[in-house]
Amino acid sequence: MYTIDLSEKTALVTGVANKRSLAWAIALELAEAGARIILTYAGERVREGVEELAAEIPGTEIFECDVSRDESIDQAFEKIGKTAPQLDYFVHSIAFAQRDDLEGKFIDTSRDGFRLALDISSYSMVALARRVVPMMPAGGSMVSLSYIAAQRAVPNYNVMGTAKAALEQMTRQLAFELGPENIRVNCISAGPLNTLSARGIAGFTGILKHYEGRAPLGRNISHKEVGTVGLFLLSDLASGITGETLFVDAGYHTVL
Ligand code: NAD
Repeated sequence: MYTIDLSEKTALVTGVANKRSLAWAIALELAEAGARIILTYAGERVREGVEELAAEIPGTEIFECDVSRDESIDQAFEKIGKTAPQLDYFVHSIAFAQRDDLEGKFIDTSRDGFRLALDISSYSMVALARRVVPMMPAGGSMVSLSYIAAQRAVPNYNVMGTAKAALEQMTRQLAFELGPENIRVNCISAGPLNTLSARGIAGFTGILKHYEGRAPLGRNISHKEVGTVGLFLLSDLASGITGETLFVDAGYHTVL
């Protein structure tokens, strides 16, 4: 029988807000394979819910980390370093844009809205990776979450499409830079899934229906399908893959 044994591995997973978070779907699969899980969450508003979730995976530790503030990132990594001097896996599953910037016209995006969306959704990958790399002396692997709006114009995604385009380019740039340190960096481009963030996109329910009608598999993907691909890309099963953006979208992106 083929098994994935991650019992000696430690994974830092960012971006869990609730049980629908894609970060949680990945954490569940990593834990199922035996990995020790460390979660970070954005702030007080989600702390209680994340604590409850963390209790479902024995041994899971949680730390606050607001990626819009360097002090918060530094404090989080100081604590993480004390509990786990070494990391094997890192999951970036964080995005944010002002609601006004996820409806209406992209051309109306304000400077502040642009800065905020790219700071939290894209720059945070660099800021966090910079702290993670010294904790991966034996190599490791990283995964972030993107959407097809990085590569195609999608109604209402607006500035979030720009942020995801940056994230996908950063995947290649980081993979190039970190390859010599035996650190792989990949990205999952997920199909639409009902999460807290997705509900902020105008017309989201219509997008789910559209995918059902167009995707070769004739359905939407599940949270678990993102989780298992996260596990695959992070683990040695994907040891030859880096700098890649892998679509998990029931084949939607292949169809005109
Ligand atoms: P989610 O709302 O559960 O996750 C987004 C996370 O970002 C939340 O945990 C939130 O707390 C966190 N976050 C926002 N601002 C932050 C900050 N300043 N500091 C730290 N964390 C912050 O929604 P999700 O759909 O699971 O989103 C996870 C990732 O998946 C995002 O990058 C999103 O763009 C991407 N994605 C989602 C879908 C989808 O349809 N749900 C599709 C493709 C890609």
